[in-house]
Amino acid sequence: MRCPSALPDERERLEALAQYGLTSERPLPSLDPVVQIAAHVFDAPVAAVNMIGRDEVFFAASTGVGACDMGRDVSFCAHAITQDDVLVVEDARIDARFHDNPLVTGPAQIRFYAGAPVRSPEGHALGALCVIDSRPRGFFSGEERARLKEMAKLVSDRLELRRLEVAGQDSLRAFEKIALTSPNAILCLDRAAIVTAMNPAAEAAFGCEAAGSVGKGVEQLLPAWGESTVRARLAREDRSCKPGVEASEDLIGLRADGSRFPLEVVSSSIAAGEEPNLMLVLRDVAEQRHQEDELFRLANFDPVSGLPNRQMFETRLGDLADGERPVAVLAIGLARLQEINDTLGRDSGDAILGKIAQRLSSSLRGSDVVGRLGSDEFGICLAGVGDPLRASEAAAVAMAAVGQPIWAEGGEIRLEAYAGIALCPSHGSDPAELLGNASLALQEARKGVAGGSSLFVPALRMHAVARRKFDAELHRAVEREELQLYYQPQVRLSDGRLTGAEALLRWNHPERGVLSPAAFLPALEASSLSAVVGNWIIDKACAQAAVWRRALAPDFRISINLFAAQFRCGRLRAIVNEAMERYGLPGGAVELEITETTVLDDEALFLPLLEGLSEDGVQIAFDDFGTGFASLSLLARYPLTHLKIDKSFVQKAFSSDRDRAIVEAITRLAHELRLEVIAEGVESARYLQFCKDIGCDEAQGFFIGRPAPPAQFSAAWSSAHLASAPRSLAARAARGA
Ligand code: C2E
Ligand code: CA
Ligand code: CA
Repeated sequence: MRCPSALPDERERLEALAQYGLTSERPLPSLDPVVQIAAHVFDAPVAAVNMIGRDEVFFAASTGVGACDMGRDVSFCAHAITQDDVLVVEDARIDARFHDNPLVTGPAQIRFYAGAPVRSPEGHALGALCVIDSRPRGFFSGEERARLKEMAKLVSDRLELRRLEVAGQDSLRAFEKIALTSPNAILCLDRAAIVTAMNPAAEAAFGCEAAGSVGKGVEQLLPAWGESTVRARLAREDRSCKPGVEASEDLIGLRADGSRFPLEVVSSSIAAGEEPNLMLVLRDVAEQRHQEDELFRLANFDPVSGLPNRQMFETRLGDLADGERPVAVLAIGLARLQEINDTLGRDSGDAILGKIAQRLSSSLRGSDVVGRLGSDEFGICLAGVGDPLRASEAAAVAMAAVGQPIWAEGGEIRLEAYAGIALCPSHGSDPAELLGNASLALQEARKGVAGGSSLFVPALRMHAVARRKFDAELHRAVEREELQLYYQPQVRLSDGRLTGAEALLRWNHPERGVLSPAAFLPALEASSLSAVVGNWIIDKACAQAAVWRRALAPDFRISINLFAAQFRCGRLRAIVNEAMERYGLPGGAVELEITETTVLDDEALFLPLLEGLSEDGVQIAFDDFGTGFASLSLLARYPLTHLKIDKSFVQKAFSSDRDRAIVEAITRLAHELRLEVIAEGVESARYLQFCKDIGCDEAQGFFIGRPAPPAQFSAAWSSAHLASAPRSLAARAARGA
C-alpha cells in the first residue's frame, strides 16, 4: 500500500481547514443534497465529502455509508487531494496503491473510487468529493470527470458560506478580514434593520456603493426583509446554542437598477459594540440554480434521447401504478444496435436513437410514459391498460414505429425490435419488479423472430432466479477452489505408449459431488468468470505437465481446451507463453484444443492469434472434427498440428461401411495436410483396433483411461507400468475388454 504524499502547502492547508469549524461530530447538512445527487448521477452506492485533517479524515457529508473516522494513511481522498485532476481507481484490488488497503481488503470492500479535490478560495485542497462502489468499473469518461469536478466546486461554494459564518461567530476582526476578500456578498444589519456594513462583493452583487447604502434600511436590498425580520432573527440566534449548523434560506435580492435575482442567505449574530448585529452572508444563486437544474436533468433524463432514464421512468411508473387503475409496461428492445454503432459510428447511432425516441413519444397518448431503460431498450407505461391483448397491440404499434425507415449517412436504415410485456397488478405492483418482469419477457421475445412480443409469465422469474443463484454459486466455487482438473490419457497406437493427456474440468460441488462440464459449462461460458477460470486451467495444466514430463514420459504433451473469452481477452498468447516459461515447458509440450464454434465466430481475431501461438511452438488441435460444418479448406488455413475425430463419428464407423469410409478419408486427408489424427471415444478393444487399422496416430477414450484426478492418473501410468509398455492397456486389449 502506498501512503498519500504530504502536500507542499500542508501548514496553510490545515489553517484554512480549521476556519470551517468542521469535525466528524459537526458535519455540514447543506452538502447532503450534493452527495445525494452525486450518488445518483454516478449510480454509486456511496458518495461523500471527506475532509482531510493532519492525521485523520472525516465526512462533512455522506450517503450510503455510516459515519466512520479513518486514518489519513488509508484514505483514498487523501490521495485525491494530492492531484489537480480527478483521481480514478477503476479496480482497487489490482491497483498497486490500494490493493492491500484495509478499506479494500476489509468489510468496506472498496473496488471503484473517483474523487475530485474540494478547494478553499485560496486554492488549498481541504478534502474531496468522492463516489465509491464495491464493484470495479472499467471506465470513467472525461465527461464524468468534468461533472464530478463541477460538483466539487458546488461543495466549495457551500463550504465558503460555512467559513464566513464561523468567522462571524469568532470576532469582528477575523470576520472583516475574511469579508474583504470573500467572493460572497456580506451585509451587517443592526437591530433596526439598518445596513451597518457591506463588503465589496455585496457592492458588486447589488450594483451599488457601500457609501450610498450603509445607513439605509435593508428593504432597499432585500425587499422581503424589515425590522421585524431582523429582530426575530437576532432573538433566534440568541436562543439557539451555537455553534450549530444553519440551513440556508432562499431570498430575492433587488439591484440598484431594479432587477431581481435569487439569493441564498445564512445569518449569524456578530458582536459589534454594545449591541449584536446580524451578519448576512448572501450568495447570488442564479448560476447555482441553473447548475442544479442541469444536475437534475442529468440525474433523471437520458442525454441521447432526452427521455426519462430508467430511474425516472420507474418513478413515473410508480405514480401510475397507484393500485387503482391497471398499467401495462412494455420493454421494447432494438435488434442490432451494436452493429449500427460499429458500422456508422456512435454519433449516427445516437442520432438514430433520438429519432426512435421521438417516434415512440409521438405514437403514445398524453397519459402514457416513455423512457430509455438501457442502451438498446426503451420502456413504455400504458395507463389504464390491463388487458394482454391490448398491450400486445400497443407493442406492435411501437415496434412498427421503430421499424419505419430512417435516413442516416446517406442511406436507408430499418431497425427491428422485440417487446416484453408485464401487467400491473397481475405481474406485480412494485415498479422495479414490473420493469424487471417486462425485461425478462423481452429476453424471452429476443429468442424468437424480430417483431415478436412475449408476455411475462412467473416461470421466467423462476428461471432468472435459478440462473442468478447458480452464477453466484459458480463465483463461490472459484473463490473456494472447488474447481479441479481431471486428466484423460492419450496413447500412440503403434506402440501403446502414453503421449500426453487432455485436461478436463470438474466441479467438486460441496452438495452435489463431482460435476461434469455439461452441468455447469454453459453458465460458466456465459459469465465473466470464463476467462479467469480458463487462465487458471492453463496454469494448473502446465504445472502438471512439467511434473509428468519428469515422472512419466519426457515428451508428455498436455492438451488444454479453450473458452472463446480467452481469445477475446487479448492476452492469450502472453498467458500461454508465461505459463510455459514458469514451468520450463517447450512449445511442443502444450497443445491447445479449438473447436469450429470458437474459431469460426471471428476468424479475423482468431487466425492471427493462433498463428502467433504456432510460431511459439505451441501445438494446436482441432477438436470434435466431424460434428459441425467445418470445411476442409479450414484445415489448410489454420496452423494445426492435430485433428481430433469426434467420438460420435468414430463410433458411427461400425454402423455402416459408408461411415467407415468417411472416417478413413478424413484420416487420409489429415495426413496429406501433415496433421496427426487422434481418435476420441475409444471405448473398447474393437474401436482401438479399428482406429489402428485405418491409420489413426493416437487414441483417447474410456478403454485407455477415464478422466481422473492427478494422483490416480499418476498411479495408473507410473513408470512401473510403463516399463513393459502400458501394461494396463496391453492387458485390457488382450482381454478384449
Ligand atoms: P471434449 O473436449 O470433446 O472432451 C472429451 C469429452 O469426452 C470429455 O467429457 C470426456 O470425459 C469424454 N470422453 C472421453 N473418452 C470417452 C469415451 O470413451 N466415451 C465417451 N462417451 N466419452 C468420452 P467431459 O470431461 O464431460 O467434457 C465435456 C466437454 O466439456 C469437453 O468436450 C469440452 O468441450 C468441455 N471441457 C471440459 N473441460 C474443459 C476445460 O477445461 N476448458 C474448456 N474450455 N472446456 C472444457
Ligand atoms: Ca477437447
Ligand atoms: Ca472432443
